[in-house]
Amino acid sequence: MSVRPYRDIIRRKSRQVMVGDVPVGGDAPISVQSMTNTLTHDVEATMAQIRSLEEAGADIVRVSCPDEESTAALKDIVRQANVPIVADIHFHYKRAIEAAEAGAACLRINPGNIGSADRVREVVRAAKDHGCSMRIGVNAGSLEKHLLEQFGEPCPEAMVQSALEHAKILEDNDFRDFKISVKASDVFLAVAAYQGLAEACDYPLHLGITEAGGLRGGTVKSSIGMGMLLWSGIGDTIRVSLSADPVEEIKVGFEMLKSLDLRHRGVRIVSCPSCARQAFPVIKTVETLEKRLEHISTPMSLSIIGCVVNGPGEARETDIGLTGGGNGNHMVYLSGVTDHKIDDAHIVDHIVELVEQKAAELEAERAKDASVRQAS
Ligand code: SF4
Repeated sequence: MSVRPYRDIIRRKSRQVMVGDVPVGGDAPISVQSMTNTLTHDVEATMAQIRSLEEAGADIVRVSCPDEESTAALKDIVRQANVPIVADIHFHYKRAIEAAEAGAACLRINPGNIGSADRVREVVRAAKDHGCSMRIGVNAGSLEKHLLEQFGEPCPEAMVQSALEHAKILEDNDFRDFKISVKASDVFLAVAAYQGLAEACDYPLHLGITEAGGLRGGTVKSSIGMGMLLWSGIGDTIRVSLSADPVEEIKVGFEMLKSLDLRHRGVRIVSCPSCARQAFPVIKTVETLEKRLEHISTPMSLSIIGCVVNGPGEARETDIGLTGGGNGNHMVYLSGVTDHKIDDAHIVDHIVELVEQKAAELEAERAKDASVRQAS
């Protein structure tokens, strides 16, 4: 029995597939992915973006392969990348085979769009030969004609049926190492389609609200749609689609998972909006700290609260806490307990130092636990 049952999320039971060395589905952590927007054949530019995504914590990165030049470059990209690479293929079965041969960990492809049964067989064989999984990616904007005729418009039922039809083609080829997405830019449609699909199969689900918009609008829209699904236990890997730097997609993805306590990475900052009672400039301090603490990947919590109204309460629940106090003297809490005071001028440097120390401590503990586990 959980101590706080209102915080429990019971995840849908899905089968597990591998995207390279990253498990997706089952009891694997929900992975966070993004996609490059460079020309794939420009290996240098693509690798620079993949490195930034890796640094931000991306578990998986997708690159599009619209032409032979791209699949030719894929070999180099796969060799240099530290994360598994998904090749995004539309229609051209040859690109899929080339991508599998080049070492892609997963193919994003809809088998119903490849053409003849022979072509599907060839793609499946290439995937099996090279240990490649697949993602079926249904999109409300490109539903098959027969489904639009049958259902009249893109609707959840049509999207689920499309996904299951593509899945059947792979199953008929004795291939089950795939995950599915049913994306729509309409949040109601996407959520209902994912809910329907979650009921209809046990394949792992890749969540996304497609073409969600710019950084602010897209973040809100994605958080509402994907948040609703994740909260109800649906979703095994996520991609936030933003018309913004792909690194933002990773950051937003992790924030979403952190909010739901599904996964943790880096410093979770609890901060107040500030008001006339603030004893130091909360907004500016938090903005600076967010930047200065970007390099920390160890999960931990930090509260930055302007005054004693909410400061002590929040500090009790966080690893490190700062509460604004009188005469430019602010209270620092460690593990929820009052520890020492700090003056205005040193807040940021001091908190960064404390966070870095705490991260080192936690990492040392984790390494010790891991070596004990290995020895036993
Ligand atoms: S914690 Fe204090 S400073 Fe922050 S918003 Fe509340 S009353 Fe204002």
